[in-house]
Amino acid sequence: MLTVLEAIKLSTEYLEKKGIDSPRTNAELLLAGVLECKRLDLYLSYDRPLDETEKLNYRTYISKRGNFEPLQYILGSSEFYGLKIIVDPSVLIPRPETEILIETIINNYKSGENISILDIGTGSGNIPVALAKNISGCRLTSIDISGEALKTAVLNAELHEIKDRINFLNMDVFSNEIYNIGNYDILVSNPPYVEKEEMKNLQKEIVNYEPFNAVTDGADGYSFYSRICEVASELLNLNGKLFFEIGIGQAAKVEEIMKSYNFTDIKIIKDYQNIDRVIYGERI
Ligand code: GLN
Repeated sequence: MLTVLEAIKLSTEYLEKKGIDSPRTNAELLLAGVLECKRLDLYLSYDRPLDETEKLNYRTYISKRGNFEPLQYILGSSEFYGLKIIVDPSVLIPRPETEILIETIINNYKSGENISILDIGTGSGNIPVALAKNISGCRLTSIDISGEALKTAVLNAELHEIKDRINFLNMDVFSNEIYNIGNYDILVSNPPYVEKEEMKNLQKEIVNYEPFNAVTDGADGYSFYSRICEVASELLNLNGKLFFEIGIGQAAKVEEIMKSYNFTDIKIIKDYQNIDRVIYGERI
């Protein structure tokens, strides 16, 4: 008979040996996933025995995690801006830093304002879902080059009952089709900004499991910023604003790119680790 506490202890040791960070937390979150309860509820049921199916499922989860599969893909969901977001390997797992992007946009607009927003590279749809939930009255268009990712984004819009406010388009921002999708008050993007050379230094979880083209542009990390600035001068309404998430050390270069496309009033916002994380500016 294997109890909750014993299962957690054994799995923690296993994950630790495999080199997984925070092994105990991972073991607990995965068991909570198997038992469909909250992590805290485990502490009240340490002596509860696991039945055969639960043991089998837990073993599968732990072995996946031991192979560096991200916790969120195993559990099938993540949390972003207080919202549950369904994830699968076709989409980037939403990162806490991206919440700064949402916060910055929300701070710039009043709820109820009738604004139109275009999200470029929507992935799981975390950005449009969080914006739709927090800026009543906004209308959104989300594009992504991946049809698979868009399917997941649609699931998230349905889960949060805002599908009628988001128009999903399967499109490459580098194609000229982008010029035919209307005009917007806000452009937002958390583009693939990791430099190709940097990929080998990232965690196994990212390199082996997250979609390559959601993480890196396969070049110097700036190609999406340049392209989005280029199309923004056509797609943005007068006085419209462009909001980007940026990677460590990219602020100065992205600011330079934005200035070269005539953006003004450029501001940079830091994340909780004091890293420049969001940059935005206005189209004149
Ligand atoms: N918009 C999604 C996010 O912010 C996906 C971004 C991406 O795939 N680069 O998480």
